[in-house]
Amino acid sequence: MLTVFGTIALDTTRTPFHTVERTLGGTATFASISASNYVSTSIVGIVGHDFPASYLELLKNRVDIRGLTISQIGKTFHYDSSFGYDLSKRTTNKTELNVISNYQSTIPEEYVDSEYVYLANNDPLQNLNVLKLFSKPKLIICDTMDFWIMNGRDEVIKMINKVDGIILNESEAKLLFKESDIFTCARLLSSIGPTFAVINKGGNGSLLFYDDEFYPLPAYPIEIIRDPTGAGDSFGGAFIGYLSQQEKLDSKSLKNAMMHGNIMGSFAIEDYGIEKLININADDIKNRYEKYKEILSF
Ligand code: AMP
Repeated sequence: MLTVFGTIALDTTRTPFHTVERTLGGTATFASISASNYVSTSIVGIVGHDFPASYLELLKNRVDIRGLTISQIGKTFHYDSSFGYDLSKRTTNKTELNVISNYQSTIPEEYVDSEYVYLANNDPLQNLNVLKLFSKPKLIICDTMDFWIMNGRDEVIKMINKVDGIILNESEAKLLFKESDIFTCARLLSSIGPTFAVINKGGNGSLLFYDDEFYPLPAYPIEIIRDPTGAGDSFGGAFIGYLSQQEKLDSKSLKNAMMHGNIMGSFAIEDYGIEKLININADDIKNRYEKYKEILSF
């Protein structure tokens, strides 16, 4: 079983072509829906009294939500961001933490022995605390983003020290180390503790650093991108979901995990919010994997 801890959000996303307001988003939402295509997945997090019942239902149909707290006094985490014509550059307009601020995470007893734990982008202190609630996970992977690097870099480093793998996007990796080169960033990430580090470069693919080797992978080509929100989380969910089904963690399984991460990320960006992710099935993933392999072989 995989447990995903992170934000369950209401997102307002503005692109030059369209705006969606207070739609279902959040790092745990994207990561868990993506992972649920590979492994039975549970979610831990908090929403407020304004969280629509239809979104609860939607999550419940895909993942185990017994670890989801519904606060009767606070509002759901809200993230407002804009993209220009260059859809690879996001500007944060507003981050309203709301119920996230004072959340003391608890997990249902049934989750304690989860073998796989994904710490999606969230308060690093809360991530560290939630880790203590699991008995002995086999694989822990985390993500983080600029907001937490700027507001609590020391905690981010402590969190990275406690995980087996980290997935970060390029600009965040550079911000974390004040470095301009992603190869250096990947090495630095590993030096903090994790066995492997993945740096995502959006449309330019991803880079894995494992066992002193670098493994680059181009992104799956998508011609029409509607909304890049959630690509990183969908990548992360698929990555750990795929690994949870493999016998061992080695360069082969990690490279394949990266392919699945890119595949789910590529689906996520084809429509607004979670719209595309909830409308694909195992055949769509298989077909895209085959096509991806074909593109990459020469
Ligand atoms: P990404 O995969 O990087 O595009 O993640 C997008 C998701 O991150 C959105 O659905 C937001 O709700 C969520 N998010 C934005 N800012 C934060 C933050 N500071 N902490 C946790 N989640 C966030």
